[in-house]
Amino acid sequence: MGHYCFTFHEYSLPFRQPLVTHYGVWTVRNGIILQLKDEKGQQGWGEIAPLEMFGTESYGEALDFCRHLGSTICHKDIQTIPATLPCCQFGFASAWDELSFIPEKTNLNDAPFDIRHHSVLLPTGRQALHGWTPLWQRGYRTFKWKIGVDNLEEEWLVCHHLLSILPPTAKLRLDANGGLDWNGAQWWVNRLQSFHPNRVEYLEQPLPVDQIENLHQLDQQSPIPIALDESVASIHQLESIFAQGWQGIVVVKPAIMGYPRRLIQFCQQHRPDLVFSSVFETKVGRRSLQRIVIACRDNCRHHRSLGFGTDYWFT
Ligand code: MG
Repeated sequence: MGHYCFTFHEYSLPFRQPLVTHYGVWTVRNGIILQLKDEKGQQGWGEIAPLEMFGTESYGEALDFCRHLGSTICHKDIQTIPATLPCCQFGFASAWDELSFIPEKTNLNDAPFDIRHHSVLLPTGRQALHGWTPLWQRGYRTFKWKIGVDNLEEEWLVCHHLLSILPPTAKLRLDANGGLDWNGAQWWVNRLQSFHPNRVEYLEQPLPVDQIENLHQLDQQSPIPIALDESVASIHQLESIFAQGWQGIVVVKPAIMGYPRRLIQFCQQHRPDLVFSSVFETKVGRRSLQRIVIACRDNCRHHRSLGFGTDYWFT
């Protein structure tokens, strides 16, 4: 264990159809695949998939970091990546983990990675009303639908319609991406109160990132659980909302949260209620995520469906 040969390449993957969220329209996923090779010729792969809208480094910043590293690096170079580059921390540490744990190949057929335990993102708006059927046929049972994009009434009509046509064993997660205000969030909570959490699993990030107290209050009065997502983009934020007493669901995206070990330790200490989610990464990043899920899962309070059903969004 000393030095590693470092190479990387950029990728650019167009979405099958533009992804419309409260942030706007996203059409192409840009990222970096990196490889570390040790003196014995063993290889470890990692992926850097920035999500700037969640406050990570930009794609350009990650690329700059890789370009300035040189072709040979050591473990210390990986351990000292600045906290301002969390996706780089994840990518490099994942490649290093893969090198170091080569015998423990993650079994992709493990139960948690079966499609029935993935939640899949439905097309936004009315397209969801017919978009769910091919996904159901593929085996998905948990669906996610974006709200906070159109006006409240229109979205509620579509949501209600969707709930009436989804099979009774299907679960729906609603994700506002922080796009509602207090009244709008209350409005949704009131509309959803007649549904059991077996049908509407949770309402995700109804309020903007910094409204932790209001989100807390909403969670306490809402019959449908509230999940935090954008409010917890980093491991530091995860630690901090727990210190503030949050006991509810948190969606975590390990690929943007820096060194995976800190997340694994956090789960050992706190037994949180986490939903592991992807960030539209490739199979390389997915394999890293699967290793993290395996390491964290038994220390989480519930085994919730993984937010991994994003593959079909790529052409
Ligand atoms: Mg979300």
